[in-house]
Amino acid sequence: MNNNKNTYSKGKKPIVYVLNPSCRIEDLEIGSDYEGVITRVEKYGFFVSLSKSVYGLLRTRNPKEKVGNHVVVKIAEIKPHKGKMDVDLTYSKTKYGNDYDTIKVKRNVKRTRIGDLSADNMGRNVAIQGEIIQIQQTSGPTIFTLRDETGLTWAAAFNEPGVRMYPELEVDDLVEILGEISLHGGKIQIESELIEKLDEEDEEKLKEAIDKAVDEKAQPDDTSVTIEESEILQKLRPKLALAAKTIRKAIFDGRSILVRHHYDADGICAGVAVEQAVLPLLREESNDADAEWHFFKRSPSKAPFYELEDVVKDLSFALEDMERHGQKLPLLVLLDNGSTEEDVAALRHSRVYGIEAVVVDHHYPGEVEDGKSIVDNYVDVHVNPYLVGGDSQLTAGALAVELAGMINPDIRDTIRHFPAIAAVGDHAECPEVDRYLEIAAEEGYSREDLETVATCIDFESYFLRFMNGRGVINTILGLDDKKRQEELLDVLITESDKRVETQLKAALPNVETEYFDNGIQFNSLDVEKFAHKFTYPAPGKTTGYVHDKLVQEKGEDKPIMTLANGPDFAVLRATEVIKNEYNFNLNDIITKIVEEIPSAGADGGGHEVAGSLKFVEGRQEEVLNFFINEVKKLSRD
Ligand code: MN
Repeated sequence: MNNNKNTYSKGKKPIVYVLNPSCRIEDLEIGSDYEGVITRVEKYGFFVSLSKSVYGLLRTRNPKEKVGNHVVVKIAEIKPHKGKMDVDLTYSKTKYGNDYDTIKVKRNVKRTRIGDLSADNMGRNVAIQGEIIQIQQTSGPTIFTLRDETGLTWAAAFNEPGVRMYPELEVDDLVEILGEISLHGGKIQIESELIEKLDEEDEEKLKEAIDKAVDEKAQPDDTSVTIEESEILQKLRPKLALAAKTIRKAIFDGRSILVRHHYDADGICAGVAVEQAVLPLLREESNDADAEWHFFKRSPSKAPFYELEDVVKDLSFALEDMERHGQKLPLLVLLDNGSTEEDVAALRHSRVYGIEAVVVDHHYPGEVEDGKSIVDNYVDVHVNPYLVGGDSQLTAGALAVELAGMINPDIRDTIRHFPAIAAVGDHAECPEVDRYLEIAAEEGYSREDLETVATCIDFESYFLRFMNGRGVINTILGLDDKKRQEELLDVLITESDKRVETQLKAALPNVETEYFDNGIQFNSLDVEKFAHKFTYPAPGKTTGYVHDKLVQEKGEDKPIMTLANGPDFAVLRATEVIKNEYNFNLNDIITKIVEEIPSAGADGGGHEVAGSLKFVEGRQEEVLNFFINEVKKLSRD
């Protein structure tokens, strides 16, 4: 009940109450003045409406009054009559149109927490408070998705079908909704009578409670890693846990998640691992049957970094979703991409719109200082083995599987063979990889099987281009029908082998091999002239196959390097010995080229012994010669 003992405001004006349309009889106070509208004229008086359901009888024969007139009335009496309550009114001393202060009366309903809403209470009137996290205009009502500190629910606002209700309300607003509990498609929905913004004090209280609750819920329960004895994984654990928390928080915040990953076997394993972890949580969290499509996107990137071409597309879609579907801006998750200097431009671009970004990558991030590298200036969470003294042998696929397990421990078993596929795809070798290979073996994958899977992913992804190929990729990775996986792998590997053979037939006889004084076997190939263009395998992969073939002949422990070039690019592959014993790092040489031959416009990068560089065609010879000289200068330690 309103405490309206004072009938004069501070400004010494009379006070008149205005009922909210949803107010009921119990919100009235005898003796107070209210604004009303005459809705019916009878011989014995007028009926005056004070809210949607509250009206009273003003017994007077004032011939001047008619339907539609506004009046100020005093509540004289509220008494039971034939099982209902009658309200008797008298004229107030204050006349409508006079100078008075008004106070709005809200309906007095105790707040129900969203978590306490239950289908058992169907038809009951409730008041809920929440933050709007999405507004959707259906062909019928406007649907508001709301959450408070205990959960999520939906409120429908009806008017004319297809008309957006409460156009003044926006995503992120904190509101109170009065309405009736109903069911829609098996889930609770509030049929709203009234939606109003909270006043500042309530708003702050609710915001604080929600933030606290989401933060607690987002905290991952299980932050263990698969290989407990791995020093690097242990060092990365806190960062991985933070990345998991950030992703979980985005889900509970009703933000969408945009995963970008490199389009090779490693990157795809990474992307699918996170996808597998996130989708079940989205299905649980939403009443929108399409939530997993609306709130999660996974796209491969052709370049081994997040490039401007990707970011402009992503931003355009995100801003459109915000405009059209009332969605919040997404959380960007970059996998097997995102750590290098080349990612900076795109990350800065997304930063302008305040996009939060998580990076899990194993590419060389440039100079590391205090566990940070250059992209740390532009991302919120950065996981990379180099930041803790490791290197690229721990693949993005492996790191993402550890991350996925923290996001959603239920899927750990489903994806435990992924790190081995990623390692084989990326030619990674380290004690962790050995352990991951054992785990894959437990799941029935021999090394040869893993190689087949990795090759088939690369093959399929060449044709998928910018599509994520969710269904087909899941089959290849063994996430659904095992029989179908076997059949598909068989089809793809046969076709892949055939095409690789065609490329090798053209390329291998044209490889020129030199033996440098420092013991390095240096193979070069003009991959543009001596390979088929615009077909699988593309120049980068072709170089890999050529290199592997040559290494097979001599042995992996020999210092062997293969440099394939086109008119304006080069692709490098080398054995690990060259990194470990010759201290070779492709990225360092590229930096030198940029400094020494500025007119070449060189850039590129990758792992120490696998990557690519670009330059202007007119400086090709200079760049390649410089590169070869740098390799000749290397010495074994
Ligand atoms: Mn990788």
